Amino acid sequence: MPQLYPYLQLSGLEPIVVTPETNFVNVGERTNVTGSRKFLNLIKNNDFEKALAVARGQVEGGAQIIDINMDEGMIDGKEAMVKFLNLIASEPDISRVPIMIDSSKWEIIEAGLKCVQGKSIVNSISLKGGEEEFVRQAKIVKKFGAAVIVMAFDEDGQADSYERRIQICERSYRILVDEVRFKASDIIFDPNIFPVATGIEEHRNNALDFFRATTWIKAHLPGAKISGGVSNVSFSFRGNDVVREAMHSAFLYHGIKAGMDMGIVNPEMLEIYSDIAPELLERVEDVLLNRRDDATERLLDFAESLKGTTNKEKEKDEAWRKGTVEERLSHALVKGIIEYIDADTEEARQKYGRPINVIEGPLMAGMNIVGDLFGAGKMFLPQVVKSARVMKKSVAFLMPYLDAEKQAGASSSAGKILMATVKGDVHDIGKNIVGVVLGCNNYEIIDIGVMVPAEKILEAARRENVDAIGLSGLITPSLDEMVHVAKEMERQGFTIPLLIGGATTSKVHTAVKIEPHYTKNQVVHVLDASRSVTVVSNLLSENANTFVADLKTDYQRIRDTYAKKKDQKQYLSLAEARQNKFQIDWNTYSVPAPAFTGEKVIEVNDLSQLVNYIDWTPFFQTWELHGRYPNILTDEVVGIEASKLFADAQKMMQQIIANNWVTAKAVVGIWPANTVNDDDIEVYSDNSRSEVRSTFRTLRQQLKKSAAADNMALADFIAPKTSGISDYIGAFVVTAGLNIEEQLAVFEADHDDYQSIMLKALADRFAEAMAEYMHEVVRKETWGYANKESLDTAGLISETYQGIRPAPGYPACPDHLEKTTIFQLLDATNKIGVELTDSLAMLPAASVSGYYFAHPSSKYFGLGKIEKDQVEDFANRKNMELEIVERWLSPVLNYA
Ligand code: SAH
Repeated sequence: MPQLYPYLQLSGLEPIVVTPETNFVNVGERTNVTGSRKFLNLIKNNDFEKALAVARGQVEGGAQIIDINMDEGMIDGKEAMVKFLNLIASEPDISRVPIMIDSSKWEIIEAGLKCVQGKSIVNSISLKGGEEEFVRQAKIVKKFGAAVIVMAFDEDGQADSYERRIQICERSYRILVDEVRFKASDIIFDPNIFPVATGIEEHRNNALDFFRATTWIKAHLPGAKISGGVSNVSFSFRGNDVVREAMHSAFLYHGIKAGMDMGIVNPEMLEIYSDIAPELLERVEDVLLNRRDDATERLLDFAESLKGTTNKEKEKDEAWRKGTVEERLSHALVKGIIEYIDADTEEARQKYGRPINVIEGPLMAGMNIVGDLFGAGKMFLPQVVKSARVMKKSVAFLMPYLDAEKQAGASSSAGKILMATVKGDVHDIGKNIVGVVLGCNNYEIIDIGVMVPAEKILEAARRENVDAIGLSGLITPSLDEMVHVAKEMERQGFTIPLLIGGATTSKVHTAVKIEPHYTKNQVVHVLDASRSVTVVSNLLSENANTFVADLKTDYQRIRDTYAKKKDQKQYLSLAEARQNKFQIDWNTYSVPAPAFTGEKVIEVNDLSQLVNYIDWTPFFQTWELHGRYPNILTDEVVGIEASKLFADAQKMMQQIIANNWVTAKAVVGIWPANTVNDDDIEVYSDNSRSEVRSTFRTLRQQLKKSAAADNMALADFIAPKTSGISDYIGAFVVTAGLNIEEQLAVFEADHDDYQSIMLKALADRFAEAMAEYMHEVVRKETWGYANKESLDTAGLISETYQGIRPAPGYPACPDHLEKTTIFQLLDATNKIGVELTDSLAMLPAASVSGYYFAHPSSKYFGLGKIEKDQVEDFANRKNMELEIVERWLSPVLNYA
């Protein structure tokens, strides 16, 4: 009898046959631009010679198949795939093994299939885009005679439970075998390996479900094979290779037992199963097999004790304890190690006699090294903040002795800097970071907090006799407040430098709007913390005059260029711009009536619900580590520090979740609405639309555009009242910063800036995640216009869904005053405790607000500059004085 289900046969120049006796088949993963920064750079730089060497290295290192992926926005994936595969074809030592053509873009796969010789594997197809597309793609793969990886993914998303895994795989199998007549033995399922030990309840069965699904598939879907990307499972232990390696081999051990045939693995990240320390193995397997309720905590605790060390390294790591007290202090500072700092400080105090000598001697020496390394780009911000924590702890330990000597005032610092977030603004992460970095460089920082009015800032500057003032702000109204402070400094006869920093500040704004108002010394824009030291040391040095003169020339040049640029652009009158509005054909559009209208408060009791909605890239930006998540974790330059930071973030996130360090709340509203007079959106009390409850005023682009482009306003996305169509608009305020002060105070009492900044940065992440989560709830349920939508985290972060949530203060609607209307409609301050400051910043800082627009054509745009005719019209509509409106809109005025 012929064998019904032949073995999986693949080939490059040489065949490989996967029989039941075959051990696990390794798929090399280093030729994947999404997984290897090194490979990506080679392809980006067109260095195909070295890229081939990577492929060769893998085959020599034992990879039996090589996975090739060119999915990266910066390169032409199709071209790179074709070129690389053609090159491989003429390298027999590489092309002897089969190729796995890996892409999420079908056109790249198809292009790849046309190049490979032998029998390759397509990675991957799935039911994600529906049955029809699945069948179409499978038929093409079949025509090319390739095998195929089928992801457990369907129209509703990725399978994340045992049941969904087997249900999707069975459905895929039946379609492939019965309909497409695909050879069963050429089907390889990838039932999704997800991370475990993340602290999230739903993730506890992730590995177990994979194993169980594997067993089921092997028993019920004859011929099919199983594969998976193994390194995913240990995701939450990035930065701790000992644990990761153990997890990978334990996972494979159980996976292969369950029937796993092949997998994408990095052979360098595998420990030999029998070599795993029994204590570690037990904890790893407790997690993988979900054997006990406290499995995650136990593994985390244990992992902490192993952190980044093999036994050999551990010995080496402790060697520094044998050095002199100066060496130990220096090491502790540079490495940010806090454990021994009190003991070492005490030892130094006894040796040096006076505490001040300890500070000015070994502590300063250590911090100088940190400053130099940071300046040279050899240390990154998170490390510096940790170093500062060691310094602060040491100084705190010496404090009682300093007091005893009554030495207060005997400062030998490099200079005294006053730092403040200006009136009306509440954001201080950036300011705190700059303070820490300057502090590390021997500057004395006097930080007077957030929402500080000009008079208070200048009064403190005078009282403390500081050498410079640093102003920080995040929202656009703060720019004006900074101008005000500069004018006041001029008026009151100050002669010290003024530093400007924060998200919306810029060199151009500083040169054009602030500098001309303060002539007695220099106004400098400080781009980020890493520049702050150079700027300040130059400003306060003996040669400050040349530095200042250079800056003045530079800023004058910026003003000149700015003035020229302005003249070249042409603007339309408001009437003309309205003529050229963004047109929606309302007659062919049926407005989805909301399932709910009115306002609604939602409290998230379990913050772990929000974790999957977090966009991590901005988190790394906060710490001045640049790159996209998750690739940043393996980045050649910042990868190691990014991974450590991420591990610290994961740990704190679990504490935040477990101990409710912050409270998250949201209020959303959906109301009947129509556009009137082109640019205003009327919100009605009820569906009779007879009573106007409030009106949103939108601003329209006036820049003269090329023929095809429109002059947009957000009002264009809502049906005009004259159309007779009943449209709706929504709005929201969310926060994840309530009650945060309590825990911040604990960290601050402990002189722990690192944890304090971390908590604030994570609260921001939770707030943005909450905004993403609420938007989904609104789209799918509350409004319900997209109840069939199904997006994974990446899809959510790239906002590929229908509708937008523009936020006042952002480019489409730079008018912060609109927040007042949103807050009134939602009664947000009473309902969820978020307040608006004088400058209309939201307090708590970790809050987000905005509108909801549902129309599929609605999109984000930038208003650009506007003309006086619009500002006058706008002031009229708002019934406000022109001057006041001009102040609020000053960043977008094309005049004055
Ligand atoms: N995932 C990001 C989300 C913030 S940025 C994070 O976690 O930090 C994206 C948001 O900014 C959008 O959802 C929208 O609210 C706002 N936004 C972006 N571009 C905008 C524009 N042109 N006008 C108004 N709001 C905009």
